[in-house]
Amino acid sequence: MDGEALSLKIQEEIKQKLKNCMIRPSVAVIQVGSDPASDSYIKRKEKACSAVGVYFRHFKFEDDTPELTIINKIKELNNDEYVNGILVQLPIPERYNEKRILNSISNSKDVDGLTDINTGRMINGRKTLVPCTPLGVMRILKEYEIPLEGKRVVIVGRSKLVGKPLFQLMLAADATVTVCHSHTVDLPSITKEADILICAAGVPKMITEDMVKKDAVVIDVGINRVDGKLCGDVDFDKVSKKASYITPVPKGVGPMTVAMLLENIVTCYENKPVTK
Ligand code: NAD
Repeated sequence: MDGEALSLKIQEEIKQKLKNCMIRPSVAVIQVGSDPASDSYIKRKEKACSAVGVYFRHFKFEDDTPELTIINKIKELNNDEYVNGILVQLPIPERYNEKRILNSISNSKDVDGLTDINTGRMINGRKTLVPCTPLGVMRILKEYEIPLEGKRVVIVGRSKLVGKPLFQLMLAADATVTVCHSHTVDLPSITKEADILICAAGVPKMITEDMVKKDAVVIDVGINRVDGKLCGDVDFDKVSKKASYITPVPKGVGPMTVAMLLENIVTCYENKPVTK
């Protein structure tokens, strides 16, 4: 499944939509501390924003910045009518209260869909801003016309960014969902039952051929660096011979995350989120 091609298609649609806008949508990215992976994710987001005509603002704070200074900046951006979306690049250094910082983002500008209010709305099946990676997974499955209703979906990983929201989205799509994590006993016996297996654990190539049912759909969310090369959580070379569909790493879910971020920014710009 070609996440890169689909992402470019979505980006082109957004670019066309924004072509004649008098005022461009804008997003503010808050970064705290210096993490090389975050630097590269932010660069990628900036590139995608400028390619489609979204104004990108980057606020970088040293990792000894008082929490209140960061929250005050977010509040200032909440009140800035020319800022449509706000996101805090995660992870942030552990000593900060991440929840408090995320919850200071206005629900209607929360392009990563991570405030408690937006999470609650998603759980309750209300219209809201949804985290970009799970949204990207749902979108790629839709593009390839993979049916979800009644299917057995197994998600490996239960993070707030990926596993938990995906669980909710899959449930809302009438799939039968199992979520596995680092305390799961006998993981292979569960993954082998999956019609659709989604791995977001961050463990290089942990999903091997013998853990996958023949003709399963395999979505690899993991991004790992091994010997300077990117790889996913799935042993792609072997599993791809057994799966009916599989996403590669790179060029799978990663580009879809960026495309969904752009869509969320446009949603905020068009003032579509129903949260206040
Ligand atoms: P996380 O560390 O917050 O969560 C990892 C989850 O995997 C946890 O719930 C943990 O219990 C589970 N886990 C870890 N080892 C396991 C094992 N051996 N067996 C079963 N479960 C196990 O990570 P995250 O933020 O959800 O990210 C997961 C991976 O996805 C990382 O590689 C990250 O880089 C990648 N990621 C990719 C994108 C993208 O756009 N493609 C976006 C976000 C995260």
